[in-house]
Amino acid sequence: MQEQRFQVLVRAFSRASQEHRLSRTPLNMTDYSVRGLGAGLGGTESPQRVSQYFGINAFTLAHMRERLPKEAYRDLLKALDQNKKISFETAEAIAVIVKDWAVQRGATHFCHWFQPLTGLTAEKHDAFISIQHTHHSETYVIEGFTGTQLIQGEPDASSFPSGGMRSTFEARGYTAWDPSSPFFILEDGRTKTLCIPSVFVGYHGQSLDMKTPLLRSIEELSKAACEFLKLLGDVDVKRVTCTLGAEQEYFLIDENFYLARPDLYMTGRSLLGAPSPRGQQFEDHYFGAIPSRVKNFMADLEWELYKLGIPVKTRHNEVAPSQFEVAPIFEDLNVAVDHNLLTMEALRRVARRHGLVCLLHEKPFAGINGSGKHCNWSMANDKGENLLEPGHTPHQNIRFLAVLSVVLQGVYDHADLLRYSVASSGNDHRLGANEAPPAIVSVFLGSLLENILDAVEKNQALKATAKEIIDLGISRIPNISKDYTDRNRTSPFAFTGNKFEFRAVGSSANPSYPMMVLNAAVADSFLKATEVLKTYLKSDVARDEAVLQMVRKLLAHSRPIRFSGNGYSEEWRKEAKERGLPIAPYTLDALQFLKDSRRTEFLVKTKILSQDEINSHYQIFTEKYLKSVELEVRVLLEMVQTQVLPVLEKMLIQKRQLISVFETLRDGTVSEGHRDQATLVDFYQKIRRLVEQLGTHLSEIHHIPHQELSVFVETKIMSPMRELRGFCDRLESLAPDELWPIPKYREIILTLPSS
Ligand code: ADP
Ligand code: MG
Repeated sequence: MQEQRFQVLVRAFSRASQEHRLSRTPLNMTDYSVRGLGAGLGGTESPQRVSQYFGINAFTLAHMRERLPKEAYRDLLKALDQNKKISFETAEAIAVIVKDWAVQRGATHFCHWFQPLTGLTAEKHDAFISIQHTHHSETYVIEGFTGTQLIQGEPDASSFPSGGMRSTFEARGYTAWDPSSPFFILEDGRTKTLCIPSVFVGYHGQSLDMKTPLLRSIEELSKAACEFLKLLGDVDVKRVTCTLGAEQEYFLIDENFYLARPDLYMTGRSLLGAPSPRGQQFEDHYFGAIPSRVKNFMADLEWELYKLGIPVKTRHNEVAPSQFEVAPIFEDLNVAVDHNLLTMEALRRVARRHGLVCLLHEKPFAGINGSGKHCNWSMANDKGENLLEPGHTPHQNIRFLAVLSVVLQGVYDHADLLRYSVASSGNDHRLGANEAPPAIVSVFLGSLLENILDAVEKNQALKATAKEIIDLGISRIPNISKDYTDRNRTSPFAFTGNKFEFRAVGSSANPSYPMMVLNAAVADSFLKATEVLKTYLKSDVARDEAVLQMVRKLLAHSRPIRFSGNGYSEEWRKEAKERGLPIAPYTLDALQFLKDSRRTEFLVKTKILSQDEINSHYQIFTEKYLKSVELEVRVLLEMVQTQVLPVLEKMLIQKRQLISVFETLRDGTVSEGHRDQATLVDFYQKIRRLVEQLGTHLSEIHHIPHQELSVFVETKIMSPMRELRGFCDRLESLAPDELWPIPKYREIILTLPSS
């Protein structure tokens, strides 16, 4: 039956996908490169142990240490430590060893790999070849790669959006090597490309990408945190780094369904589709046995990621049918972001090798869970101590409380920009829905920590001397990780034992942006806290006492951001409003925060974004949002007109014929026939009317003043889209199966486990 309905589509696409699959045969785990490696290692051990191929496609600092002349390596380290430029000689030396390594691994091209503001990543490939001349003017080819090519590329990238920052006569953007992230070789089919992680900047150094602001935020956070920690007594701290472990959720579906759904392949989400009678109500998918087809995919994915040096650790089914998650062991933030982008890229690429498609959209299917990217974030000092880990000594615990209160203050003061940082057209369908963190930023701490903070705030933990603090339990803070049991799934920003988990981030997002804003918020808070602490230290109290005074002040200030209740509830929405927390239900509302310089001032003050950059982000992200909305409307209208209405017309004709049969029966069925017909006619008229309305509204969208756009889009576009979808979905459940041309939810999401 199903087969019948899809025959045409499947036939149309099977050729394409067969060829597709042939050209992308799944990697054999004993692929030549590993055998080669095994041989290189002595060749006797089984090449299948992860430790043997982990990182074979990455060129890290360890490789540099091993292969660079001592002088050059020292110069590189100095540049990295002090955030300074690398000398020309060192760049030349690095270019030589990186090229040798890449060419040996089979790479033919190199590219500066960067993160423009619109998409996720961009690359422009150049071949390693360089033409040489003998002095008899004969030419020959060698593999060439220079220090200049390593350090800077000049992509012809004038069509990347700059939001007005580049005028056309200086439209060029430059990519520049980011030495703090490893080089890697991207393998795709038979091609291998050396990728140079890069920033993308304009002629005057203005950022045109996501990596530049992230790197600045890491730097500024480090400076602000060090100054603060020194006041706490950590006098020898030189650097504070941020860590990220990004849990990536995604859907997998069979590519035949994907190819038969224009909405999925053009917009990433289904714009139509009646709910499947069986959805996630049995909760049998979450952590269930992973279907073998998916397991094979995961093994292949992990193999690719391990070769790139990405430490993926966990894989499991997620809540919705056909939804899964992959999570790495946390790493340095900048590297972790690059690795997350590579993971998303690999998810998509490897899925196609298995005849599957990976959907990274935040809400590919209505009515079942959407996908997020939980960003686990923390900070560490140069001894590798996690600053959000309650420690074994009283000092570590005071530091923990101090840093925690700084983060709380930062999140409270900049909840508006944090909300903005996760806004996207896709995430609009996820945030606030009943399975995802709400669009209001709040912090969940857990009852144990709440109690400790309450005690600190009420001064119960501090009577007279630092010693008593210890007696009163602060030294026993390490037990917080046991508080896992009362985790609050509804919180967009939760403390989970020794790190914060920013759950509102969307699955398809570049995590760079929310992490940059979070760093900026915390850096700003460190600066403020330093001032507060300095004044307390001037008075005649012991240092720990002064620190606790500061902690108390910050906690009292940021109290409204702490919320332990149900983030999905309507009461919370009301309460949040009373608490004065910023509320921005949709992307366009969140974007308005950027127009308010009081809200964005801290970004400029911490030198993480300039006012020009903020303005350009506003333009670029508003445009990007409107473009995706427009695309969705156009795709929906096309599907309705070319797929749904023709079905309805056929149904009307069939109904008419049926009525003439009923008429001959003269038994009352005829009135039922007329009733059904009237329902269909009503659908027909309503659908036609909504199609017309949406078309008109779409043409108005560019004439609406920006402040009114959010309301316009919600009432004149989103709401009629939902209404139109409602009729189409009801029609889907009435239409003869053989007439309905669009794969149904149940077929798409429930058949994978058994395939
Ligand atoms: P949970 O069960 O709370 O989600 P996990 O230990 O599974 O905790 O961690 C989830 C993610 O958080 C993983 O990617 C993990 O590496 C990461 N993580 C753990 N500690 C830190 C940290 N200090 N900083 C950043 N991420 C961390
Ligand atoms: Mg999680």
